[in-house]
Amino acid sequence: RAAASPSYLSRLNPEQREAVETLDGPVLVLAGAGTGKTRVLTCRIAHILSQGRARPGEILSVTFTNKAAREMKHRLGEMLGQAVEGMPWLGTFHSIGGRILRMHAEMVQLKSNFTVLDTDDQVRLLKQLLQAEGIDDKRWPARMLAGLIDGWKNRGLGPSQVPSGEAAVFANGKGGKLYASYQERLKILNAADFGDLLLENIRLFREHPDVLRQYQHRFKFILVDEYQDTNVAQYLWLRLLAQAPSPSPTSPRASVPSPLVGETPSDPIDSLQDGSPGLDASHRSGDDEKNVAKLSAPRNICCVGDDDQSIYGWRGAEVDNILRFEHDFPGAKVIRLERNYRSTGHILAAASHLIAHNEGRLGKTLRTEDVDGEKVTVTGAWDSEEEARAIGEEIEDLQRRKENLNQVAILVRASFQMREFEDRFVTLGLPYRVIGGPRFYERAEIRDALAYLRVVNSPADDLAFERIVNVPKRGLGDATVQMLHDHARKRRIPLFEAARAVVETDELKPKARGSLRDLLTSFDRWRAQAEVASHTELAEAVLDESGYTDMWQKDRSADAAGRLDNLKELVRSMEEFENLQGFLEHISLVMDRDGGAEEEAVSLMTLHSAKGLEFDNVFLPGWEEGLFPSQRTLDEQGRAGLEEERRLAHVGLTRARRRAKLYFATNRRIHGTWSTTIPSRFLDELPAHNVEITESKGGSGWGGASGYGPSRFDNVESFGSSYGTPGWQRAQANRARGGRQNHGFEERQTSYGSRDAGGFSKQKRTPLV
Ligand code: ATP
Ligand code: MG
Repeated sequence: RAAASPSYLSRLNPEQREAVETLDGPVLVLAGAGTGKTRVLTCRIAHILSQGRARPGEILSVTFTNKAAREMKHRLGEMLGQAVEGMPWLGTFHSIGGRILRMHAEMVQLKSNFTVLDTDDQVRLLKQLLQAEGIDDKRWPARMLAGLIDGWKNRGLGPSQVPSGEAAVFANGKGGKLYASYQERLKILNAADFGDLLLENIRLFREHPDVLRQYQHRFKFILVDEYQDTNVAQYLWLRLLAQAPSPSPTSPRASVPSPLVGETPSDPIDSLQDGSPGLDASHRSGDDEKNVAKLSAPRNICCVGDDDQSIYGWRGAEVDNILRFEHDFPGAKVIRLERNYRSTGHILAAASHLIAHNEGRLGKTLRTEDVDGEKVTVTGAWDSEEEARAIGEEIEDLQRRKENLNQVAILVRASFQMREFEDRFVTLGLPYRVIGGPRFYERAEIRDALAYLRVVNSPADDLAFERIVNVPKRGLGDATVQMLHDHARKRRIPLFEAARAVVETDELKPKARGSLRDLLTSFDRWRAQAEVASHTELAEAVLDESGYTDMWQKDRSADAAGRLDNLKELVRSMEEFENLQGFLEHISLVMDRDGGAEEEAVSLMTLHSAKGLEFDNVFLPGWEEGLFPSQRTLDEQGRAGLEEERRLAHVGLTRARRRAKLYFATNRRIHGTWSTTIPSRFLDELPAHNVEITESKGGSGWGGASGYGPSRFDNVESFGSSYGTPGWQRAQANRARGGRQNHGFEERQTSYGSRDAGGFSKQKRTPLV
């Protein structure tokens, strides 16, 4: 069938090519950063499609972010020379899980328009539950319970499966019961939280083997990127789908009414489902015996990952999933890639040397055929403000040298670090975008507007209803809401329904009753309008007629105008979606919000959200003990935590193609308190030969590599005289001149002296994050 080798194959090295062309049976690509794992996955999809082995709707392909999914789709289009229609099952675990769940919502006691709660909603709901149980929220915070429940869900544990010892840690043993009532409440609210998108999916598959079987048949090929960061729930979900389907009592397809066809008419898979030229459609022939034999063959699953980039252990990811692959999928072909195509020599050497300090690794070699390029730089700044100023100047420098700002990224350890950069960039007029962070959609006015739309979309969405029932003020205060709650709880109905019942009685004072009736009528009208008008028109109507826009127009506070602009922007942003449901779906899933690709802009994000990405120029600020590695991680997870932090540092460095620039500040203000900090141990662990210490351009005159001298490197000699006066001497001179005080300085100096004797571990560190 294969004619001349397609062009996408010719751009692969032999190992990559093997990974792409081994279409049958399980394949694991275990390889370091920048070796082309993601490229392999993309080519593999192209190959499957162009060989006619499956149609777009028959490929399940999991990426780590929505953004990565979009990018992959784009690349596919380029490779195949035509836009790829469909690919409905290319996305994150959550988006795919959510999609499947929606199609079978009734089977897990939801409706197909169920709402996906964000963390805020989740916490609010748990607070209500705690109150109802008479549990003191101060002693047993709802947030803590939310964290526990998330953890259980990540491990694939439903309320009845939580080990009793663990359920006991909350509210004197009430943890498990609260988890159960939380799940029950979610069903009444027609809502799911993030963890449910997979957990409920797993339950669906377990309780309805016929449904599972359908998806097992559907997905002829399964591909997973960033496999090292899958958690137990994701793993279980994959395992279920990757199993050869068990023979069903009757014909595998005829036995089940297919919810995959026709339930959501807009679903692109439907157009592909039947009627189009059948490829590998033998299992639909009705010849059962043949089918079973065929389907029991090893599944075509291909996972790619890198144990050195496992950075979500704190969220339940299990790097062991990689190690188990061969066991789970007997006969798996394991392919290793060793050539890094991303980074220059110095950067790759620095990253490899750093990660070699970890003990728990599979170990691998990485080489580049690229030039050495520029050394990795390390720059000390007086404080975070100077750090931001210095980085701002470097970026302006790059801009003058005509570097593309899209190729510049700042990767921070903790999101609070971003604020300083945002401020600086606004001052400089440098365009930037925050990736993966809570910004626009987190604003109060946006959340209010969304709450209105959510209630229009799903009347059972109590949290949304409660948020806006008295916004703007309509005389429906706490007492009214309390009353609605009592009603709703007693009769196990949503607040909205309770409100409908209550307005028919005289329990409310006439005025409140009148305005509640008006509100309900408005919602009925909007819902009718939703059927006929576009979702943007609907949004405009809702904002106007509810009095919400008016409320801000009358508001005299300084930020009211900005809020009105944001509301306009919200309506504008809806245009990109087909309908309200799709838009709300998007909002609930936005893990990676970016400002769009219109303008060249610097990217600002956490190290965690930088996974899989690459940039020519990468700035890595805040390499200080306590911040990076994070003291909290060290305290909570000890050695394992340190290794995870180091992998994070490794991920950061390996994002860089041409330049990696590390920074640390000697003083940092966290939550209003100044702390003196010491440079990160990770700086010590870099190979001197590949690193250059530079002066801060921040302009305080202090700058320099404070307290960070050549003696701190593993490999002192190679530093030679490239480094003049050690930082600490300059600092001392500066202090003598009346410069700013550098508290705790001598103490640090001594500990550096004794570093070889394990000095670091004896140092006192200030917890920062
Ligand atoms: P990470 O572990 O960081 O996710 P990765 O292994 O997924 O990295 P890719 O992002 O797929 O690596 O590839 C890194 C870079 O190398 C990309 O710019 C990619 O286009 C390029 N690349 C990969 N393979 C080749 C090749 N055979 N020839 C030229 N460039 C390649
Ligand atoms: Mg990748």
